[in-house]
Formats: sequence, C-alpha cells, structure tokens
Amino acid sequence: MPCGGGREIGANSYLVQLDGFHILLDCGVHPKKEGVGSLPDFSVLTRAPDAAIISHGHVDHCGAVPKLLKHFPGVPVFATQATVSVMDRMLHNSVSVMGILAKERGIAEYPLYQHEDVNYAIKRTCGVSLGDEFALDDHGGVTVELLHAGHVLGSASVLIRTPEHNVLYTGDICTSDQELMAGMAPLDNDLNIDTLIIESTYGANHLADKTSVEEQTERFAGSIRHVIARGGCVLVPCFALGRTQEMLNIIARLQATGDIPKVPVLASGLGRALYDVYDRYPDYLNQNANLRPLNQFGRVGDTWDRGVVQNILSRPSIIVATSGMMVENTPSALLAEEMVRSHLHGIFFVGYLDPDTLGYKLLHEEPGAAFAFGLGRPKVKVVLEDIDWFHFSAHAPRQALRGLVERIHPKNVIYVHGDPEAIDWMCQQSGNESRAFSATMGQIVTCEA
Ligand SMILES: [Zn+2]
Ligand SMILES: [Zn+2]
Repeated sequence: MPCGGGREIGANSYLVQLDGFHILLDCGVHPKKEGVGSLPDFSVLTRAPDAAIISHGHVDHCGAVPKLLKHFPGVPVFATQATVSVMDRMLHNSVSVMGILAKERGIAEYPLYQHEDVNYAIKRTCGVSLGDEFALDDHGGVTVELLHAGHVLGSASVLIRTPEHNVLYTGDICTSDQELMAGMAPLDNDLNIDTLIIESTYGANHLADKTSVEEQTERFAGSIRHVIARGGCVLVPCFALGRTQEMLNIIARLQATGDIPKVPVLASGLGRALYDVYDRYPDYLNQNANLRPLNQFGRVGDTWDRGVVQNILSRPSIIVATSGMMVENTPSALLAEEMVRSHLHGIFFVGYLDPDTLGYKLLHEEPGAAFAFGLGRPKVKVVLEDIDWFHFSAHAPRQALRGLVERIHPKNVIYVHGDPEAIDWMCQQSGNESRAFSATMGQIVTCEA
C-alpha cells in the first residue's frame, strides 16, 4: 500500500504486510509539494511499522524519516552504511532549507523537524552491508538483504524473504555503469520472487532506450569547447547526490584526455559535502572508478552575492551547481539569472526536468523573452541562446526495466515511482505471466504467492 509515490514520483513510501509483519519501504518527501502536504500519508498506517528500510539518500526516499520517528518513536530503520552517512548530510541540509523557506516564503509549518530529530533518526538507523542477510524477528522468519542498485552511492534494492512469500523492492535502479557507480548486477532468476515492486521513472520515455552515454558525452564535450573558446562559462545544474559527483568526474576525465580545455571546475555546497561521503565509501563505487580528490574542484561560494557571481563569470570556468532542475533560490538559479544576460555562456542540463520547474521553462523559453527566476524576482531578458539538455541518467531505461521483470518472472508486479503514463506503459508490457498492479495513496494491493 503506497503512503506516497504510487502513481507519481512523490513522497515515496510503501507499506508491505507479510506474515503479520508491517515493513515500510522508503519514507520520502514530495519534491514538488510544500509543508505537511509534502509528507507521506502516515494516517494510513494503522500501527507502528515493525521496521522501515530506506533504499537510498534522495529526499524523495528518505526525507520524512525524522517525521516517521516523531509519529512512531522506536521504529528500527535500516539502510546501507553509505546511505546512513548520505542521509545525515541530506536531512540536516533539509532542516536548513526548510528554515530558509519558512522565513522567505512564510511557510509556517517549516521546518517539519529539527536538527535534533535528524540526530535521533540517524542514531536509530542501522547501517548494514550490501549482501548481508539480517532478520527482522527473533526467530529469523522474516529476513532482509540489501542488493546493489547502481543508482547513487549506497543505493540498494530490498529483498524480503518469509517462508511463504518473497518480495523484491527495486528502489531507484540503474542497470548500466555510470562514471563512478557500477550498474545493478543482474539478479539471479532463481530468487523466487513472488512480488516485485519496481520503479517506473522512464516508463513513458522511449528516447532513453536509444541514447548512448558515449554519444551524449561527446556532444557535451563539443558544446563545452564552444563556450570556453568564446570566453564564456558553462553551468551544469545537477542534483547534489549522484549527478554532481558523476559529472565532476566526467568533466575531469574530459580535461585529462584533452577533449575539453583545462579551465577551473567549480562545485557548490551540498554537492561538495556529499562528495566527501563518496570519498569515504570507495567499496560502493565501481572497482575501476577514478574518484578525483575533491580539492581538485574549486568552491562556487555565496551565490546570493551578485559580486561573487560576477567575479566567477568574469573568466572561463565550468560550474557544477545544485539544483538540477533549477529550483528557485538555489545556486544554479542564481547563477543562471546572471548568465542569461550574455550570449557568451552555456547552460547545460543533464538530468530529469519536471515541466513545472524553472529549468524546464528556461530550456523551452524563446530567446529574447523576459524571464523571472522566482516569485517576486525582477524579469531578466534572456540573451543567452546556448541552453541545452543532455541525457545522463541514473535510472534504467524502460526496456531494461521490462527485461528485469521478464528475467525475474514474479507472480505479481507492482509498478511505482512514475507518472501515470509511465506506470500504464509498464503495466501493459508486463506480459501474461505476471499479474500487474499499480496503486495510489492508501490503496491496498493484495498479492498471492
Ligand atoms: Zn533516487
Ligand atoms: Zn526516486
């Protein structure tokens, strides 16, 4: 039963009831909603879950853990060790961001929790190793194993076994290698999965099936060369966790091979803090990943200070800054507001853009239009034409998702974490051997073994 994130990418959280055990899979906040409305619907939980298991540290999967523990103190939480460290950084950052939004936008419900709630949540979260099986009950009737999911540092799929029923929850998955993360390992087809709960992010995207990383990297390098040659700066808006670390190392590799000029590469705050966590968990990265030292990349500094921004833009550089979708008041939005005034620069998006975000709107804006980078901010004339999008993804394309379902051939498949059209496409492709389900918030799906 979804408490959020059923037929959307939202406050992803799913309650699984097995043998009288209540297990909550993920506990995130909705990326597009605010205040209490961004939380999963805890009212559908009839009692405290026996355990919560967190697949990875993106806030749409873990951002409501401190709130869950305020409702139900004492619930044991499990995640990989790397994810616990990531959550520590992400959740404390969320408290700070909510504090700013409370002041700037007058959202009285913010912050939804405090730094001490985060400390308590991190203390309650038990870090486990990938591949180690652990029991949720005293006699080992319900066991859990976390499997490498290939999405971001620490990300895991969750395998729950009971004598009667086995459940696999994929979390967010990437089936191919990225610059730093190895792709999800192919799952054995003798896992005997009765019920598969699988993400569907790219279910409605047929382009992702065809694009190759090499091709995108080559086009990306070419575009950077053009901007630097005309004396401009390149802005690469990125999610702080995953995309930032991957892009910094792709850029560093392209510089080392001479594909792009060796201009300074800068990275913004939270992305740097999480880079530090990548550095501490080399075992979670691809064996041959070459994670460059963080001090190879400069700091962006305070983007609220227009002087700082103008100083950065006065000489060629490549700036990797949060947020990936250019949420207002983030470093990428504040930098872009200045950059669009000149034809010299380039703004290159590299990840998913929700149509409601500034990033999507800027990408589709006509040159010469007047554009506001946030509520109440003065409009700026967009002179810059070199605004582009490149497909670098940490999610499996839909054909890979389909292949996974075919290989595991579960009796039941529940599609989650996707727009309705993505979920519907996945449901239609499921074939006759599996029963396909999707569910909205609070809707119960009953699966037989
Ligand atoms: Zn994710
Ligand atoms: Zn997600």
